[in-house]
Amino acid sequence: MKFIKIEEKELPVNKIVCLGRNYFGHIKEMGHEKNPDPVIFLKPSSSLIFSGDSVIKPDFTNNLHYEVELVLVIGEKIKNANDEIANSAVVGYAVGLDMTCRDLQSDAIKRGEPWTLSKCFDTSAVISDITPINKYKVNGSESISLYLNNELRQSSTLSKMILNPVEVIKFISSKITIEPGDLIFTGTPEGVGQANIEDEIFASIENIGELKTKII
Ligand code: MG
Repeated sequence: MKFIKIEEKELPVNKIVCLGRNYFGHIKEMGHEKNPDPVIFLKPSSSLIFSGDSVIKPDFTNNLHYEVELVLVIGEKIKNANDEIANSAVVGYAVGLDMTCRDLQSDAIKRGEPWTLSKCFDTSAVISDITPINKYKVNGSESISLYLNNELRQSSTLSKMILNPVEVIKFISSKITIEPGDLIFTGTPEGVGQANIEDEIFASIENIGELKTKII
């Protein structure tokens, strides 16, 4: 079992729920003409590592991609949440990386198969320290960025999210129950790309935090 620390409290990590296709720029770069509905997928808690840990490139991929994302930390059990409940269910935020085997994912999409192997491998979810909600509340204007070997690759703002954090929680909770210790990855902006062994990634979200990792 993995734990996250919010202020002085340790919270066991439950499931990791991820939203795909939540920024137009990324939808376009993935070759979609029109805006498809957002997609929900899961990562197991065994995939989670923390800033400073290394991402282990699986030997079954030739195209490992980085995706920087805002992560919501959930503190309440909710189902079919309204605005108020969705809003109060968030206990903190983190910067996250949704590491993806793009070649496996593309094959899976073509074949109509699940994304499991492309998204759930060990070290595929990286998060920064948690910023508790009582220290900062996201307003949508925050910048989000990712550097690969000190070169800027992803740069956007949270205002570009198609579903904002409250809408993301409402959408997911309309389909599946969200519970304390769940982490929600809210989608990535454009600029995703390949990371290779020895590459270093630095990701940040204004007022939320920073994350560093190396591919090994
Ligand atoms: Mg993603």
